[in-house]
Amino acid sequence: MKAAYELRDYQKSLVEFIVDSLKTRGGAAIEAPTGSGKTLTGLVAAITYARDSGKKILYLTRTNSQQEQVIKELRILAPESGLKAVPIQGRHNLCPLYQEIEQGDSFSSDSLSRFCNGRKKKVREGDQNACRFFNSRVNSKENMDKIFSEIPTAEEFLMYGLESEICPYESLKLAASKADIAIAPYAFFLNPDVAERFLSRWGVAREDLVIVLDEAHNLPDLAREVSSFTISINSINLAEKEALEFGDAELQERFRATDFCETLRNGILDLSRDMLKGQDEVRIRFADLVEYSSIGAGIKMDQFWSYAALFHIFGDNITTRKEDMGRIPRSHVLSLASRVLSWKASEEEGYVAILNSENNGTVEAFCLEPTGILQSLRMSRTIHMSGTLEPFQIYKNITGFTEIATRKVSSIFPEENKLVLYYDGISTKYDSFDDREALNMRNQIQDIVRSTGKKALIFFTSYNIMNRIIDIGFDIEYLAETKAKSQGDLMSMLNRFRKENLPMLAVMGGRLSEGINFPGNELQVVVLAGIPYPRPGARQKALYSYYQSVYGKGWEYAVTFPVVIKMRQAIGRLIRSESDTGVAVILDQRATYFKKYIPEMRLSRNPAADASQFFINKSH
Ligand code: SF4
Repeated sequence: MKAAYELRDYQKSLVEFIVDSLKTRGGAAIEAPTGSGKTLTGLVAAITYARDSGKKILYLTRTNSQQEQVIKELRILAPESGLKAVPIQGRHNLCPLYQEIEQGDSFSSDSLSRFCNGRKKKVREGDQNACRFFNSRVNSKENMDKIFSEIPTAEEFLMYGLESEICPYESLKLAASKADIAIAPYAFFLNPDVAERFLSRWGVAREDLVIVLDEAHNLPDLAREVSSFTISINSINLAEKEALEFGDAELQERFRATDFCETLRNGILDLSRDMLKGQDEVRIRFADLVEYSSIGAGIKMDQFWSYAALFHIFGDNITTRKEDMGRIPRSHVLSLASRVLSWKASEEEGYVAILNSENNGTVEAFCLEPTGILQSLRMSRTIHMSGTLEPFQIYKNITGFTEIATRKVSSIFPEENKLVLYYDGISTKYDSFDDREALNMRNQIQDIVRSTGKKALIFFTSYNIMNRIIDIGFDIEYLAETKAKSQGDLMSMLNRFRKENLPMLAVMGGRLSEGINFPGNELQVVVLAGIPYPRPGARQKALYSYYQSVYGKGWEYAVTFPVVIKMRQAIGRLIRSESDTGVAVILDQRATYFKKYIPEMRLSRNPAADASQFFINKSH
């Protein structure tokens, strides 16, 4: 490969290490600090290995800004290495027709695939109005050349497709069949059906793939999220409404589809009444849902399951009828029936049943063991990149990638440019965080912001705590990330933060704690207002017990590992280059428990004064 880019020495040695590990250990996990060029290093290693072994590359990212970063590097690397790269996303994001006709509603990728196939069939039969975006220009040389020469992001190509009336999804799908490198979101590839369809179109077997996992510390949570599923009162109501619209099929004599909905709804309501007793969530047995539903309706349990199977057939029928009507073939009945039938199998597959009060009552099959869904990824060679993967053994065990090699790149920037302090005069522990502690926290934050006069990002452990502090009131002007803020509002707030010197309040693990870059002086102070312990509750307890029973280390796996990742991700926002300077302050006496993982932190009795002194010293 010609050098259109300059690798630093540690990057060269990392590339060698990764390539060697891909050959001998099936993969590598790399922890390297922000600003160390992880994306470039991962790509060069993947390209080097893939070129020699004839494999293809799949780069998985979590957010749009991470995808942009990869594409930026590929615009330099791909032409140099003669490789073709293409961004991939699902129809949810790239089908303009779906966005036109069903705005705001969400559909499974399966329904969208059926919808699209139906429209394309009509176009092929001569009805061009069925989809004006599906035309001969999709497969034109000009279109393919544009994709491979410009390597647009999926969003850029969507805009182009809208303007020129060319289907972006179909264009990128066709381009992918000729590509050497695909960049896709995790959610797309962790969906087993979508992944299989994509790989078969690409013509690549899993064994012939090198997968780069960007920000890999998110992998356990993403896998759990994709594998878990819920049945809520709201989803039952939607299915009931649809069942009525489509004739309310009689599943058996005097038992209609809406009766099944009522049976299930009453089951959840009765369970909530008997079990929740004022709590947000409790663990139940999988059998509880079926027992409560069946007893309430006066039916036997095996009858419940045969009704569920018939309800599924009715849902299938609705889907076909919707398709015939030209609507998106998604059925609420089918979706509910599938989840009820999956509920039956979940108990044996590493799930726990949780009942919670959300949406008037919801039961959830919560996945404890993410290794199952990640098993298919283990058939490929993998490169795991992140700023926070330690302790590696926990990461390897939780994800099931137990054989891969690991390496940590310690700080590559001058240690003296960063100061990490903790203050032990506050505890955000649930039972001791009273009004006095809240006021104390407000004062500390305000003092730090005022005394340093630098751009500051304040990370809270939850929106609740953030709002509590906001309610006390600040004497300084500030910006705040709220849960309800749209992506557009968030971006304008970020622009304001970049231009003006106002502190910004956000939540750890939220939308601002990773994936957004703050180079140079854009961010010089990070305050961690508390330790981001997972929310206590039935899920967390189940996770703890599970890892305690498997590894004898429930606390390390279920608590310490995610907490350390969130804290280090937040601190990692500060330094991105040789000349950056910054101070992180942790406002919680429990910070001391994490000294082993954040060894550079030191106790401060007056963080505002110490932080300000640090910047004074740096300016001399
Ligand atoms: S061809 Fe493209 S625009 Fe038309 S339905 Fe399919 S994905 Fe949507």
